[in-house]
Amino acid sequence: MARLAQTAGLTDVQQEILSTVRDFVDKEIIPVATELEHRDEYPQAIVDGLKELGLFGLMIPEEYGGLGESLLTYALCVEEIARGWMSVSGIINTHFIVAYMLKQHGTQEQKDHFLPRMAAGDIRGAFSMSEPALGSDVSAITSKAVKDGDDYVLNGQKMWLTNGGTSSLVAVLVRSDEGHPEGTAPHKSMTTFLVEKEPGFGEVRPGLTIPGKIDKMGYKGVDTTELIMDGLRVPADRVLGGVTGRGFYQMMDGVEVGRVNVAARGCGVAQRAFELGVRYAQQRHTFGKAIAQHQAIQFKLAEMATKVEAAHAMMVNAARKKDSGERNDLEAGMAKYLASEYCKEVVEDAFRIHGGYGFSKEYEIERLYREAPMLLIGEGTAEIQKMIIGRRLLEEYRFQG
Ligand SMILES: Cc1cc2nc3c(=O)[nH]c(=O)nc-3n(C[C@H](O)[C@H](O)[C@H](O)COP(=O)(O)OP(=O)(O)OC[C@H]3O[C@@H](n4cnc5c(N)ncnc54)[C@H](O)[C@@H]3O)c2cc1C
Repeated sequence: MARLAQTAGLTDVQQEILSTVRDFVDKEIIPVATELEHRDEYPQAIVDGLKELGLFGLMIPEEYGGLGESLLTYALCVEEIARGWMSVSGIINTHFIVAYMLKQHGTQEQKDHFLPRMAAGDIRGAFSMSEPALGSDVSAITSKAVKDGDDYVLNGQKMWLTNGGTSSLVAVLVRSDEGHPEGTAPHKSMTTFLVEKEPGFGEVRPGLTIPGKIDKMGYKGVDTTELIMDGLRVPADRVLGGVTGRGFYQMMDGVEVGRVNVAARGCGVAQRAFELGVRYAQQRHTFGKAIAQHQAIQFKLAEMATKVEAAHAMMVNAARKKDSGERNDLEAGMAKYLASEYCKEVVEDAFRIHGGYGFSKEYEIERLYREAPMLLIGEGTAEIQKMIIGRRLLEEYRFQG
C-alpha cells in the first residue's frame, strides 16, 4: 500500500529491515496463509524463513547474537507480518515477550544461557499467566511453587498458552509464598519460573504435561494449549532474576511491550482488510458502476482508511515512548484498545463490501473476520485497558482542590 500507515523518521537500517520483511510477507506468507489457516496447519516453512531473517532475535542485544533493534522496529515488523497472517505474528510475540523479560530481569547466567539460542530461534518462548478460572484477574493465580531443597516443586493448571506446544521455554507465573509472610499482597508473592521443556504434546518433562491444541474459531496454525504441572521440579536458579516475589511486576512489564505488539497486529490486519476492501470495491459492479463509485461505499473506505491511519499513529507513539525509556502504560493501553477496536470495525466494513462473497471461504476476508476478535481479548481485554487508562489519567490529572 503506497500511502497509508507510513512512519516518519525511520533510519536506513529500519527501512531496510521493513522492506525485507514486507517482501517476505508478500511472497512467502500471503499466498499460502488462508490455505494453511483453513487446515489449522503450523507454518513451519514460514517460521524457518523468519529464523533465517533473524526475526527471533530482532530485539535481543547484539552481544547475545540478536539484532539489538528497538521496540518500534519490532512493532513495525509485526504490523507487516500480521498484514500477511496474524497467526505468524503470534508465533514470534510470546518469544519476544520472554526474551524481553530475560533481557530486563534475568540474571547474567540466565541471559548467557538463553538469549543467544533464543536469538537464533533455536529456543522458542511461551509465557503463561492465565489459568482456567482467571485471565484478567492475575492476582487470583492459584498455581503454586513450594521450596524443596535446592528446587521448587510446582503444581497447578495453566490455560491459553500461545505456542504452548512448539515452545521449549515457558515463563510461568505462580504463587510462591516462601519467604513472604501470610497476608503479603498477592502481587508480591508471585514468581516467574523459566521452565525448559521438549517441544510437543503429552508429558514433555517429568511433572509437566501439555495436552493437545485448543480448537479455536480463528488464529489457527499457531498452537494454543493448556499446561499442567504435577510435582514439576524446577531448580532455584530458574527463578527469573534469582529472587522470588517479583514475578507479577516482571510479567506486567512483559505484557506492556506485548500490548504495543497487539496494537501492531491490529494495525496490520486492518491494513490488509482495507487493501482487500478497496480492491474489491473497484472490481464489483452494481447498478451500472463499480461499487466504489457509490458514495456509501466511498464513505466506508474513507472511514476504514482514517482508522488505519489513527491506529498506526498511536501504535508508533506508544513504541517510541517505550524506546525513549519512559513509562508507556497509558500510551500502550490506548494503542492496544483503539487498534483492536478499529481493526474489528475495518474488517467488518471490508466484509460488508464483499457482499455474499465475504462469507465464502474462498475470500481472504473470511479469515480476517475470524481473526480480529482475538485482539479484543489477548494481552488484556478492552475493559482492562480502559481500567489502566482511567487509573493513569486520574494520576496525571489529580484534582488539587
Ligand atoms: C487465543 C488466545 C491466546 C492467548 N494466549 C495467552 C498466552 O499466551 N498466555 C497467557 O497467559 N494468556 C493467554 N490468553 C489469555 C488471555 O490473556 C485472557 O483470555 C484474557 O486476559 C481475558 O481473560 P479471561 O478469558 O479469563 O476473561 P475474564 O477475565 O473472565 O473476563 C471476562 C469478561 O469480563 C470482563 N471483566 C473482567 N474483569 C473486569 C472488571 N474488573 N471490570 C470490568 N469488566 C471486567 C472482561 O473484560 C471480559 O469481557 C490467550 C487467550 C486467547 C483467547
